[in-house]
Parts: sequence; structure tokens; C-alpha cells
Amino acid sequence: FLSGRTALVTGSTSGIGLAIACSLAEAGARIAVNGLGDQAQVDAALDAVRKAGSEDARHFNADLRDPDAIAAMMAGIDAWSPIDVLVNNAGIQHTASLAEMPVGKWNDIIAINLSAAFHTMRAALPGMAARGYGRVVNIASVHGLVASKEKAPYVAAKHGIVGLSKVAALEYAAAGSRDSGGVTVNCICPGWVETPLIEPQIEARRNGGSRDDGVRALVAEKQPSLRMTLPAEIGALAAWLCRREAHNVTGASFPVDGGWTTQ
Ligand code: NAD
Repeated sequence: FLSGRTALVTGSTSGIGLAIACSLAEAGARIAVNGLGDQAQVDAALDAVRKAGSEDARHFNADLRDPDAIAAMMAGIDAWSPIDVLVNNAGIQHTASLAEMPVGKWNDIIAINLSAAFHTMRAALPGMAARGYGRVVNIASVHGLVASKEKAPYVAAKHGIVGLSKVAALEYAAAGSRDSGGVTVNCICPGWVETPLIEPQIEARRNGGSRDDGVRALVAEKQPSLRMTLPAEIGALAAWLCRREAHNVTGASFPVDGGWTTQ
């Protein structure tokens, strides 16, 4: 259902982004891969999306802290193939109390986890509306809905992207039609997902035990299912949101959190 469509997935050299890129590739999309990493990591990501079924995949290099680099990336992708599906997924984390949070970490987390999505959406949404089909899937977090201690910039950025997505959903709600698929903007709000991003938090809870002890301690704190989510499970939901029959699903935030935010 995505053949002939083009998807940009930011932060798709690793973790959830790579899994989403593979799910969209499986549905037939051309994939613009973005994210940091050495040539081997970029090549591995391109290989994975091609193997998943993408007819064409390219890496677009932009450090998302830099609005000029984002503008150049968006222009480059547009010249290659205009974006039908935009997944704002890139994100970083740093845990420290508010009083001890380094200012540089605040600035980077707000830039990557929130402002980058504003810049990409601002560039991509008008073209989606003109063509009558577009999907924006923003990877927020349970921390877009509730807070935890020691994550001030992360929680602020994730609440911000939930709000930003609602505004965009309203502004583009009437674009396109049922037949063309319309333009929708939604958030996915994962709890714990097994990726490199959370390794430091697993490490911090090992207490001299094994990595599995660290995982159990981390999950038990917040996630009643006591199971982590796999990146591919987020990919499956992102792909479903891109289907034509999801044309009226917009402005929503979907927790994938084993019950975390239902408590
Ligand atoms: P990850 O560390 O595996 O991947 C992050 C990706 O973002 C990488 O491709 C990295 O290169 C890219 N990135 C980081 N800084 C960048 C920059 N300046 N410019 C361009 N790209 C940059 O992390 P992940 O766990 O896959 O996280 C993906 C998203 O999911 C993030 O937004 C994160 O907040 C969110 N999330 C993760 C979890 C979880 O438990 N892992 C839970 C909720 C939400």
C-alpha cells in the first residue's frame, strides 16, 4: 500500500527508526534514511531497508540540531522524490535532576526531539496537502503524556511534540479526500522499547547483577505488562497509520506502553 510513495524516517540508522523504515519498506515505500553513524552503520541501514522491500533507498545526512542542515536535507529529498510519509523519530536522552541538567543537553534535546519535527513538518506538509495524501507519524513517548523525574528536557520536548502534532492535525484535517487518503498527523507514545537509547538506564539499575536484572528492574518500575516493546512492533503501528483507511485517524497519540499511562 506504499508502493510509489516516499518516506523520510529521521534517526533511522538505529533502533526504532530503522525498524519503522523497514516496515514502510515492506509496504513498498522508497526510503530516505537519516541519522548519525559511520559509513558501516549507514550502509547496514540502507541494506536492511532494501532487503525489507524498498525499491530505492538513500541516506540523507543532516545533524538535526542544525535548521540549515534540515532545510538542505528536505530540499535534497524533494529533488529526489517528494515526501509522502514523514516519520520524526530521531531522539536523544539525558537523565539528571533539573538543577543538574547541563544547559547544552537541554538545548540539544529540545532541538533534536522537538524543533527538528517543526522544521521537517513545515517543509513537507504543504506538498502533502497539494497531492491529497500525506502521513506524519511523530515518535513521542509516554513522556509526552506523563512525567518522570530527571528527564526535564526530554519530557518537555515530548509534551511539545504531542501539542505540535495536534496543531498540524487540525490545520491539515480537511486536505485531500477519502479516496486520496487525506493528510494525517499522529504520535506514537512508546514506553520501554529495546534499543540502544535505554542501555544507560538498564546499566544504572543492574546493581551488580546481570543485564536481565537491570531490564527487570527498569520495566517493573513503570510498565505493568513487565514486557519491553520490540522496535518492529512500533514499525507495524506506524505502517498501519499510513494506510488509506486511516484517513480519519488524526491528532491522536497512541500509547504502546503495557499499561504505563493507564494507571
Ligand atoms: P536510538 O538511540 O537507537 O536511535 C536514535 C536515532 O536518532 C539514531 O539513528 C541516531 O543517529 C539519531 N540521532 C540522534 N541524534 C541525531 C542528530 N543530531 N541528528 C540526526 N540524527 C540523530 O534510539 P531509539 O530508542 O530508537 O529512539 C528513537 C525515538 O523513540 C526517540 O525519539 C526516542 O525518544 C523515542 N522513544 C524511545 C523509547 C525507548 O524505550 N527506546 C521509548 C519512548 C520513545
